[in-house]
Amino acid sequence: MLASDKVPGASAGSKPACAFLALVLLALAFPSFPQAPVDERTIDAPADEFSAGRVLKWLGARGSLEPRPGGTAPHAEFREALVESLEELGLEVEVQEALARGPSGRVALVRNVIARQFADAEGTSILLAAHYDTVGCSPGAADDGAGCASLIEIARALKTGSEHGRALSRPVVYLFSDAEEAGLIGAEAFASQHELAKNLGCVINLEARGNFGPSVMFQARGGPEAIAALARSAPLARASSLADFVYKLMPNDTDYSVFSSRGIHGFNFAFLGGLEVYHTPRDDLEGLDASSVQHQGEQALALTRELANERIEGWNDGRVVFTDVLGVGIVSWSPWIGIVLAAAATWFVQRRSRRDEGSAWGAIAHFGPGVSAAFAVALGAVWAEFAALGAYLGSPDAGARHPHVAELALTLTCGGAYLVVAALVTRRYSFREAWLALGSSLALLALVTSVALSEVSYLVLAPAILWCALETAIAPGRAGSTLRLWTSLVLFAALALLLWVPIRAQFWLALSFRKPVALAVPTAATLALLWPSLTLLPARPLARTGIALLVAGALLLAGVVFKVPGGTEGREWLNLRHVYDTELDLARFEASTFGARLPREIAAAAEWSRATTPPFPWMTLDPSMHVAPAPRIDAPPPKLEVLETKTLEGGRRVRCRLTSPRGAPRLHLHLPEEVSIETIEWRGQRIEGGFEGVRTQLLFAFEQDGVEFVLRDRAASPSSVHLIDQDWAWTSEHSALIEARDAYTHLPRSDGDIVFIGARHKLE
Ligand SMILES: [Zn+2]
Repeated sequence: MLASDKVPGASAGSKPACAFLALVLLALAFPSFPQAPVDERTIDAPADEFSAGRVLKWLGARGSLEPRPGGTAPHAEFREALVESLEELGLEVEVQEALARGPSGRVALVRNVIARQFADAEGTSILLAAHYDTVGCSPGAADDGAGCASLIEIARALKTGSEHGRALSRPVVYLFSDAEEAGLIGAEAFASQHELAKNLGCVINLEARGNFGPSVMFQARGGPEAIAALARSAPLARASSLADFVYKLMPNDTDYSVFSSRGIHGFNFAFLGGLEVYHTPRDDLEGLDASSVQHQGEQALALTRELANERIEGWNDGRVVFTDVLGVGIVSWSPWIGIVLAAAATWFVQRRSRRDEGSAWGAIAHFGPGVSAAFAVALGAVWAEFAALGAYLGSPDAGARHPHVAELALTLTCGGAYLVVAALVTRRYSFREAWLALGSSLALLALVTSVALSEVSYLVLAPAILWCALETAIAPGRAGSTLRLWTSLVLFAALALLLWVPIRAQFWLALSFRKPVALAVPTAATLALLWPSLTLLPARPLARTGIALLVAGALLLAGVVFKVPGGTEGREWLNLRHVYDTELDLARFEASTFGARLPREIAAAAEWSRATTPPFPWMTLDPSMHVAPAPRIDAPPPKLEVLETKTLEGGRRVRCRLTSPRGAPRLHLHLPEEVSIETIEWRGQRIEGGFEGVRTQLLFAFEQDGVEFVLRDRAASPSSVHLIDQDWAWTSEHSALIEARDAYTHLPRSDGDIVFIGARHKLE
């Protein structure tokens, strides 16, 4: 292109502008699905280093991993293996056996494995934590078997280091917590009851919410010094204040929540890739990505060594903005710096607009509605397309059947809709006007977010600073040079992609195609940053390009329906339950589809109808659940044995023992309004008080000898209570139904295929 003296606009060339936008969209459409940034170290890696090979070997030595909910044999075996390995390393090991209540009020008999290293060292200790229990249907290779085995590998590497004169100058405590999946109950038992919990300086928690991808440090507490320690020790960390912010918005919890709520500094790591296998039988050893384990363990080991030399006790919880950059390091700064920079940018933009005889506010007033409309329509189009696909295929995660095709379709649809709206609103502006409007909006947004939402502020602060730099150096659009104009656009595109491609990848890992609108946000945000380039295209070609992209997106997405070769099969979730209410003598099968359609082979296996009632009256109804008549279950129902009744003013106090004669490990006790719990007691341990308003009490890892309750009954005549026990002891009819489920397309999830037996007992 030759430099032109005319006012840039259509004169800058609509063809290069078209090509430019197409390239940006392509760059957005093909992010390689993110992988951990390191390779697995083999079992012969140096002994003081972390090796995922050794972690997998340890897990592999457990045979084929089995689900480990508390109270089951594989749970006990895994615990014994942990104790044995820790003792072999010469660590002080104990099993904390406790009756405890988690933050959500559930109660469990927990057995935490706790080990100490460098016990003679001074100062507060570093706690390394992972949970060894799993949900009911998953072997938990990643969640959190890998975390447990990684802790052993770290203990081994630290021990080797100390033999070579690198003993840590702080004690290290290892917590292999129990009943995390039941509601963080093991971590709570440790934090509230164990002596070692009184001297904690910092926690490093290792988790997985999937089985591949980089290990993300998604929650930190300890302020700027904590982030600085991470940046020094783990330059390959994937961490940002944005991830921390997003995690706070999500309903998820980990063991670290228990420590964080007590104000203890810490770092929370997890790999997130593979939502569809998370908490399913496919979270197995074969599917576990060794490089994810390597990335996580290597960081945890380096951070532990770093923390041993840090003055953790002096850390504050001050706010800090941070992000990893290009995967080579972490940058961080105080929100104050952001506020000062954003204020300076706002002032600078005002001055520049006045020089152009405009006002920054006027620019925003022109610019804001157009960009917002384009943003909203683009996200709406993506939502509509994926909703239609989901409805047609009867699946809430239909895009996952062909992730690459769906990803491209999503980008084209989002981009297409964006361009169509842009065609309607940009033609009134010159490039210079749009450029000034962009600068004004970025500066203002940077100021607002720096003050109110500093965790995400860098997403607008960085482009605002680039804008100021470019405006100072070349004032694009003003001097009329096409070269200057393109320089600014290319640099802006590079920054937009640098900021948003990694976020898009993280969103994809975390949300799969279940939240297509969230996946479209990075695309729309990138296009918003490139808004001035849209003024270079006359309205008609812009609209035409937009429509072409929309059509291409729709056709590609339709390709998902026709199963373009090369895609992976869909992975839907489907739980099959057998429920027997002995009080009403009613039995039924239940199929929970998580919003998907009932698969053909299951539909044919029983007389299904939509559920109109939950399994038991006080439970919530899952609207996607189907029910079918089922045979009664030939097993004894849970038992309530009244041991002692004391008549009191206005009712009675009843001491009773709850047992599951069939040995089910989980119990639900449902109480009428007149009855409340006073104490729960097991083997001399007691939980007293805090049961006000509790109608349903859940108990986990229940044992043969049962648990004693003291109940207060305020009714005139003895009340009755409901008791349900829960396990995985399938009847032959239930097994036949489970076998009918296509294991390749449908997986049980979380508790999985459970059996419920309910009974009513009178308190007399
Ligand atoms: Zn977990």
